[in-house]
Amino acid sequence: MPTLEAKSISVSYASVKAVHDVSFRVDEGEVVALVGSNGAGKSTILKAMMGLKQLAGGDLWWRDHSIARIPAANRVSSGIALSPEGRRLFPRMTVLDNLEVGAHTVKSVASRRRTLDLIYGLFPRVHERRSQLAGSLSGGEQQMVAIGRALMAQPKLLLLDEPSLGLAPKVIAEIARVVETLNRETGLSIVLVEQNARLALRLSHRAYVLERGEVVRTGTGQELLDDDFVRQAYLGV
Ligand code: ATP
Repeated sequence: MPTLEAKSISVSYASVKAVHDVSFRVDEGEVVALVGSNGAGKSTILKAMMGLKQLAGGDLWWRDHSIARIPAANRVSSGIALSPEGRRLFPRMTVLDNLEVGAHTVKSVASRRRTLDLIYGLFPRVHERRSQLAGSLSGGEQQMVAIGRALMAQPKLLLLDEPSLGLAPKVIAEIARVVETLNRETGLSIVLVEQNARLALRLSHRAYVLERGEVVRTGTGQELLDDDFVRQAYLGV
């Protein structure tokens, strides 16, 4: 059964249609990738899923009901969390305070503590740097904190926007390992938005390729890695 389903959604910025008639689903425990070049509409779809952009058409279902008109804060409490493109940390706050920002919907102190321990286990460097100002961290460390902050909301569905952007190969490998571990060991469903198509397809159970706001290909990660069109357009082979 789909955890989240986008039914023919469209999203506009003023008169510009950024996403047009896009349908996709995320099943329980799946990693689903949205790949495509700059401006294809990937981030806009995540914003619409999160309630940060309103739909111009179509519908968005979460479990057994439409969330199209539900505000972002309520979507967080119902189990959806976003790690945004560009990380958006508070640079003058400590790493720990940034993480705590993500936990405002979680009332139980013991439960917050358990999630914090999970994040520190996944990212030992975040633990080491927990008292430092977030702005003093490397790009890779900041990305880890941004993912950690989203996890602090204890989501059932994690939306990751360009987690590999601008990072060194070694750090990308570490983030990829965490995506796999989270999915495998906690059953978390993940939507992964990436310009790095090879990485995204390797990590995902299924994927959708977007061009100019429309889905042009879909399949399992492996099917798309083997697809001639995808290989030529996105994998450079
Ligand atoms: P990127 O990786 O560059 O973020 P993307 O696939 O995530 O690419 P979007 O950011 O969703 O693409 O952009 C989709 C389209 O919407 C593009 O044509 C973009 O120029 C336009 N767009 C995005 N944000 C805005 C905005 N705030 N105002 C106007 N147009 C926007």
